[in-house]
Parts: sequence; structure tokens; C-alpha cells
Amino acid sequence: MRTAIFPGSFDPFTLGHLDVLKSALNLFDKVIVAVGYNSTKGGFFTPEIRVEIIRKAIDGMENVEVCSYTGLTVDFCREKRANCIIRGLRTTTDFELESVIAQANRKMAPEILCIFIPAGHEYSFISSTVVRDVLINGGDAKCFLPKNIDINYYLQLRS
Ligand code: ADP
Repeated sequence: MRTAIFPGSFDPFTLGHLDVLKSALNLFDKVIVAVGYNSTKGGFFTPEIRVEIIRKAIDGMENVEVCSYTGLTVDFCREKRANCIIRGLRTTTDFELESVIAQANRKMAPEILCIFIPAGHEYSFISSTVVRDVLINGGDAKCFLPKNIDINYYLQLRS
């Protein structure tokens, strides 16, 4: 069974993330979307809400598991018996940052391969940071989010 981990902050999960996930499902039997968080560093949404949003976004999709984790991604891969890490790439800046992380991971865990999936052109400008900025300023972020996500509901859960 080929299992991959798609790790990220997903604060929140966007249409760009969903696109990468769909591509990854063409390559693997199972993809685990893993919300990585640092317990001392707060986020916009709590890890629990981020997981809930992803579960809603993937409603009806098969072969996907959603969970959260702390610690090293390679340790989490080993725990889940996954031998691949999926990361999405939007820009050359993403590539530079991601390749450094991939090299470090490869040094620590040579058996785990990192695969980069390029962003679909219609999603390449979407980031969780933009979504958070829009939300903080009272804008409508619907066009950046999976269609069945009622983000106002999750915003209420924050307060
Ligand atoms: P992190 O904080 O770990 O970078 P993110 O939630 O920002 O977490 O992103 C998770 C992964 O998804 C990263 O590999 C990132 O490059 C990728 N990603 C984010 N937005 C997009 C997008 N619009 N298209 C493709 N990949 C994306």
C-alpha cells in the first residue's frame, strides 16, 4: 500500500491545497493530510478547527485521512508507515524553501521521498495568509476556499 503524508499548517485549507491533494490521490493508495502545529505557537484557527475544515472540504473523497501532529514530519511519516511527503509548489521561492527542508528530511530519513506537486495555474496565487488577511478585514474569502466550507461558522468558533 502506497501511503503519502501531505503535511502543512492549513490555517486554513484552501482550494490550492485541495488541488494538490487531488493530484496526490492519483499517485497514492492513501493520502494523510496532516495539520502540523507547534503547541507553543498559536495559529489563526486551532488545530482542531483546521482538521474539521479539511474533513468538511474532502467530504465524500475516498482514501484520505485527516489528522494533526506535533514534532518532526519524518517521525510522523514513520509512525504512519508512509514513505512519501507531498508538498505543493507555487513559486520559485516555494521551491527554494521546500528544497532545503526536503534535503534536511532526506538526511534524517533517507527512506522517505519528498514529492513536489506544482500548483494549478488558477490556484497559484492562493495562500492561507491571503485568506486570513481577507477574513481579518471582513472580506469574502469564498473564492479561495473549497465550495462547501462555510467559513463564517468556523470564524464564530474562534471567539
Ligand atoms: P506550511 O506552513 O507547512 O508551508 P501551508 O498550509 O502554507 O503550510 O502549505 C502546505 C503545503 O501546501 C505547502 O507545500 C505549500 O507550498 C502548499 N501550498 C499552499 N498553497 C498552495 C497553492 N495555492 N497551490 C499549491 N500548493 C500550495
